[in-house]
Amino acid sequence: MKAILEGLKTFQTTVFERHRELFERLRTKQDPQVLFITCSDSRVVPNLIVQAEPGDLFTVRNAGNIVPPRGQSTGGVSASIEYAVEALGVRDIILCGHSNCGAMRAILHPETVAAMPRMAAWVRHAEPARQAVRRLYPDAQEEELMERMVEQNVIQQVKNLLTHDWIAGRVRAGKLDIYGWVYDIGTGRVRGLDESGEGFCETAVGAPGSPDEKLMLFELENPG
Ligand SMILES: [Zn+2]
Repeated sequence: MKAILEGLKTFQTTVFERHRELFERLRTKQDPQVLFITCSDSRVVPNLIVQAEPGDLFTVRNAGNIVPPRGQSTGGVSASIEYAVEALGVRDIILCGHSNCGAMRAILHPETVAAMPRMAAWVRHAEPARQAVRRLYPDAQEEELMERMVEQNVIQQVKNLLTHDWIAGRVRAGKLDIYGWVYDIGTGRVRGLDESGEGFCETAVGAPGSPDEKLMLFELENPG
């Protein structure tokens, strides 16, 4: 805790002063363009990764960057997303998973959360992703299983976002784009869900890696 309080002092005496104008501007309003949904993991720092300033990202974090689908969504995650979309009118949603995610391990190995009933219940929102991994990569070993689990979970949570009418409606109207990202902690690289909504490619300026949400919506509404 000592380091935290020393950090606070440095912020107030040095950093805040340097950005005084910005904080003054933000005093009574925020106008973020991006909703960033990611894991609670301490190694994932959204503002650092995309070099965003205070006021730029509306951030929702939870174990496993999970978005409960329509009908199972009365908690804080859905409320925060609803606020970002309806009240703040964000233009983009980034759903960002990451390498070495403990929540993904919990999904693959339920015994690791056997003594944590709330965690076990929470990660059930990612169960379709686990099934997809088992189906698509039946022979994968542990390390690859984890990587694929992170990816399939990102795909599943983008789909879960699209189950909400108030998100799907804006996507259809071209007022909202959804990006699925995987952040690699050890390299700093980010891979984005590609046009097909099934694969991932390197995300960079000019090659944002955006899925075709309308295609994903169509597939959600017309399963099989
Ligand atoms: Zn995580």
